[in-house]
Amino acid sequence: MAVNAGSSSLKFQLLEMPTEKLITSGIVERIGMSKSIFSIKVNGEKIESISDIPNHGEAVNILLNQLIEHDIIASYEEIAGVGHRVVHGGDRISKSVVIDDEMIQYLEEIIDLAPLHLGPNLIGIKAFKEILPNVKHIGVFDTAFHQTMPEEAFLYAVPYDWYSHYKVRKYGFHGTSHKFITQRFAEIENKKIEDVNIVIAHIGNGASICAVKNGQSIDTSMGFTPLEGIPMGTRSGNIDPAVVEYMAKIKNKPVKEIINQLNKLSGYLGVSNLSSDSRDLVSASAKGDHQAKLAIDVQAKRIADYISSYHNYIGGAEAIIFTAGIGENAKETRKNISDRLKTFGVEIDDERNDCRGVERLISKDSSAIKLYVIPTNEEVMIARDTLSLL
Ligand code: AMP
Repeated sequence: MAVNAGSSSLKFQLLEMPTEKLITSGIVERIGMSKSIFSIKVNGEKIESISDIPNHGEAVNILLNQLIEHDIIASYEEIAGVGHRVVHGGDRISKSVVIDDEMIQYLEEIIDLAPLHLGPNLIGIKAFKEILPNVKHIGVFDTAFHQTMPEEAFLYAVPYDWYSHYKVRKYGFHGTSHKFITQRFAEIENKKIEDVNIVIAHIGNGASICAVKNGQSIDTSMGFTPLEGIPMGTRSGNIDPAVVEYMAKIKNKPVKEIINQLNKLSGYLGVSNLSSDSRDLVSASAKGDHQAKLAIDVQAKRIADYISSYHNYIGGAEAIIFTAGIGENAKETRKNISDRLKTFGVEIDDERNDCRGVERLISKDSSAIKLYVIPTNEEVMIARDTLSLL
């Protein structure tokens, strides 16, 4: 079972391994609030029920009982292992690990690195461990794949003790997705992981670019938090940090509030003043909405900047991969970005690019760097790592 626990939600997928066949998936929402929603897919049909689910423990109980009630499993014993998505592993975790008591203690020690996400992840892990004490629980970390970044890439040019004493450095996120894409690209191109040199553009509501050299992450656009890098649905990406103090003073608001606005009211939403959803912006832009077009262009420009820089850092990428909600679905945005990379001989093929949510080569045969769409699948990656640790 692959689990992703948030502060008030719990997403799950049950997969048959090693075939990677999806058996069922679902989500519990509004945990801890009234009228919590539990939904599960049974034979392709979504079944929803509403009740008050006071905490994650109760959510796990309901979820497992529903699996039995819908004849998906006959008993809890059929679940061989649980893989938990964990947002942060600090600088000690470079691969997936079994979550024992010592690991829980370590995660509690680093909770300040990602208090909004790591706290809920831990609550989910503890709830599952209590109800399924006899199976192994595996942590699959968003930061782990990026632990191969060299010092020169992960260090900020700030007083050194910010790093040595306070752990301030670039960690990077979306690692599970970037790792999945790296493995899938190796399969598609029939090569060893060590021979993969690509730039991955994971563009969804959250978005990050990753430079993969010899199959390893050597740089990525997200940093100490997922706020760094390219503009996203509601996040600003990079700005001059001095703006924070300036705006706090002008608005007479605490720094925390300004950072909140950079996380929640910026990016697509901030620039367009319309929506954080790429579909809304693509259609408004087609109708001539200047700010919607600008929001897309500001992001596309910065993505092309990162790709150019990473192409150079890798020493020449063989392919650029588009993935996640926007990367997989928005052909207009893929074209916008690719056209900004013509200097490197990148040539997008408009006919091949006319696709959505499928794995496909979208560059011309004459393109100097291949362009691919590869749908990501973090749950399968979680299940693979879980299986290998069982
Ligand atoms: P994710 O966070 O990976 O689920 O991606 C969410 C983003 O993907 C949202 O901005 C969606 O608008 C975008 N998206 C999904 N389908 C499409 C589509 N057909 N065209 C443009 N954007 C899409």
